[in-house]
Amino acid sequence: MPADCIFCKIAAGEIPAEVIYQDDYIMAFPDISPVAPVHILVITKKHIANLLETTAADHTLLGHVMATLPRIVSLMGLEKDGFRVVVNTKEHGGQTVPHLHWHILGGRPMNWPPG
Ligand code: 5GP
Repeated sequence: MPADCIFCKIAAGEIPAEVIYQDDYIMAFPDISPVAPVHILVITKKHIANLLETTAADHTLLGHVMATLPRIVSLMGLEKDGFRVVVNTKEHGGQTVPHLHWHILGGRPMNWPPG
């Protein structure tokens, strides 16, 4: 774990966050700068810089995230109207925190194409 990784520190409880869901592998909490009425981050507890850095050893973890998203979405009451899931990756993807995470955005209609 890089010493300066914000999301590793949140996963370790060193930086406070309002934990909405967690298990041995992932944690979900509100984004500190929400861009939608509901803006949740889902992080892996394992430090992985981005989606491109995953390997075959992470396939179960990646599947676990996808399989758990409906539960997190349900906790936030987003299942009726829907939501968007985003994985920003590196510079052109708009990634600012180099620790793999999923944005769950909801509570308003989303635009397409994104900016
Ligand atoms: P990215 O830009 O890498 O796709 O997403 C990183 C997100 O992490 C941003 O939306 C940013 O607002 C959020 N963020 C950065 N630092 C913190 C923090 O300390 N706590 C929380 N809850 N969110 C953070």
